[in-house]
Amino acid sequence: FSSLRKHLMSKSTAKYRKDNQSLQLPIYKHKAKLVQAVKESTFLVVTGETGSGKTTQLPQYLCQAGFCKNGKICITQPRRVAAITVAQRVAHEMQCTLGREVGYQVRFDDCTTQDTELKYMTDGCLLREVLADPGLSHYSVVVLDEVHERSLNTDILLGLLKKVFSNPTEAMKGRAFPLKVVVMSATMETDKLSAFLGDCPVFAIPGRTFPVTCTLGTAVGPKDLQSTGYVKEVVSLALDVHTSEKAGDILVFLTGQLEIERACDLLFEKAESIDYRYDVQDKTVDGLLILPLYGSMPTEQQRQIFQPPPPGIRKCVVATNIAATSLTINGIKYIIDSGFVKQLNHNSRVGMDILEVVPISKSEALQRAGRAGRTSAGKCFRIYTKEFWEECMPEYTIPEIQRTSLTAVVLTLKCLGVHDVIRFPYLDPPEERFILEALKQLYQFDAIDRFGRVTRLGELMVEFPLQPGLTRALLKAASHGCQDLLLSVAAMLSVENIFIRPGHPDKQKEADQSHRALAANSGGVNDFGTLLSVFQQCKSSERPSAWCKDNWIHWRALKSAFSVETQLRDILLRLRDFPVEKFDGNKNELFRRCLCTGYFTNVARRSVGKVFCTMDGHGSMVHIHPSSSLFDKEMELDWILFHDVLVTSRVYVRTVCPIRYEWVKDLLPKLHEVDVYELSSVAREEVTDEEVTKWETREAAKRQSEISAEDA
Ligand code: ADP
Ligand code: MG
Repeated sequence: FSSLRKHLMSKSTAKYRKDNQSLQLPIYKHKAKLVQAVKESTFLVVTGETGSGKTTQLPQYLCQAGFCKNGKICITQPRRVAAITVAQRVAHEMQCTLGREVGYQVRFDDCTTQDTELKYMTDGCLLREVLADPGLSHYSVVVLDEVHERSLNTDILLGLLKKVFSNPTEAMKGRAFPLKVVVMSATMETDKLSAFLGDCPVFAIPGRTFPVTCTLGTAVGPKDLQSTGYVKEVVSLALDVHTSEKAGDILVFLTGQLEIERACDLLFEKAESIDYRYDVQDKTVDGLLILPLYGSMPTEQQRQIFQPPPPGIRKCVVATNIAATSLTINGIKYIIDSGFVKQLNHNSRVGMDILEVVPISKSEALQRAGRAGRTSAGKCFRIYTKEFWEECMPEYTIPEIQRTSLTAVVLTLKCLGVHDVIRFPYLDPPEERFILEALKQLYQFDAIDRFGRVTRLGELMVEFPLQPGLTRALLKAASHGCQDLLLSVAAMLSVENIFIRPGHPDKQKEADQSHRALAANSGGVNDFGTLLSVFQQCKSSERPSAWCKDNWIHWRALKSAFSVETQLRDILLRLRDFPVEKFDGNKNELFRRCLCTGYFTNVARRSVGKVFCTMDGHGSMVHIHPSSSLFDKEMELDWILFHDVLVTSRVYVRTVCPIRYEWVKDLLPKLHEVDVYELSSVAREEVTDEEVTKWETREAAKRQSEISAEDA
């Protein structure tokens, strides 16, 4: 049996079973009425339990009804994996090659052609398309899916589409046929959505669900917010279920890749030692098939998840929140809920967005439990206590727009000609101070001027699917003709973690040693230089995948980095219209100076001992993360810059390099220069060129009189 997992994992080309499952989905009976409803109105809200067939079926119905004749149908997903997996499924159902009639597009991976009719894409990608083509002229129907997730980009798309229709722009008037918008949601307050979209019709797909009995546990209480000890508890619960419950598959909710892999290893070890003759109550079960499911997994492995297990085997899927609504796995009867989720939050302590593990909301817990009751009654085992439920879990999940940085979104809106970003139609408006914070950052990066107008640099920035700082550093490098350095680094920072961390302590030592050796090649640019060096060494080696294996580097991550680099290079080549400046210093200094241009907001100076103090006005106390090659060398450092921050019991900075004060001296004042209230007043109304000229004349006069006063 021990080979079962390996065997199934390696069968990468396994085909789906042919079945007529799609005819049995709840949505099927409503096909004609749904198509009619889309035809009859501009906006339509569609709701239905997860798994009723909204995502996979509705687009096919619309295509069959002829909507594809006028243009493509796009279906947005907040998650990249969901877009890919669902497109695969639909291509299979329509018996076509993925990338032809049915395709997907996610950041840095476009698997579509001119002829693609159904295009599954991330909401972020559609937002970029709106920039290039505000009238969405290629599409006949735009389907915003998973709206209940309330992802930042979906919320913005909702607002944009509402705005476009309430005041049709030239772009829209030029369309040959009307655009249809379908908004799909699993559980969300549909009244609110419908009201937001001008009281548009709502189509609810009736579906039946079965009761799920939920039990609370004892492992996680209000005091356990910081610990990750729950993995063990989750594993032991899963084994209890396996040995004492009737046939039916298990779905475990954890927060991320590392945790999931650890849980799978533990489960695998323990499940192997079970003597199925004596230990398992339900004698129809004689093995456990353990399958991980998280965002950055290879897609062949993901396919496995959906296949029914072999007879007599129980499937146990260990997943992130992606299995809560985006993907539906048939046959699940038992849920094990850790009560936590990884979430991007703006952290006011350090003034940036940080991925944090936080308690889920009560509504999220209900959604997770519901996954056990799709086809028959199920059970949900929660590992947390009643006190945890009452004291630590909020009623609802706060929409992303109200808890993350709005910098990129505000720049996008401005580029779309939405000047008044405060009075934009938000489904739930973010706090004004978050918008001001975004304007301030954009001003600091020179992406907008003090009148809130997008600068040339801002226009360039919006072209790159990177965070503004990284784009700025890249553009700086390009202006010195050393873009190669930054292209590789930006690509490496855009892919998942490249360093392998083996579970076994001996192997871990080996891996650490290799990584240290790689870091030694960094040419004093440290963690950024290490990334560059890994990229270059691997690229120039004869057998890159073997090189990765030898050096404990994830080959898959590097392969994506190569592809991302090419794509960034293409964008850069397309835009190449900035002056080239000369620089006659050494290359490593130039490299770091370019980084400073982008990362001057992430600069810190050593204060006492190994503690650094950030310079962005927050004055946070930070430590260098143990994964950095500068860890334990703090005493030799003075000024540093860093790529990101990790908050655990301490605030850690990761991907660090040493810099000199002179390189940021002229940039740092910009962090304190701007008055947010001034920006807030300009955010509200468009400033005419005339007014700008007037202001400039006034300023010049003021300066002149100051100079005269000094002279006198
Ligand atoms: P909804 O969007 O309403 O939540 P979906 O269209 O995602 O529903 O799912 C409908 C059905 O299709 C579910 O039973 C689900 O298990 C099945 N399904 C979806 N994706 C796959 C896949 N990749 N492989 C097999 N079945 C799938
Ligand atoms: Mg769906």
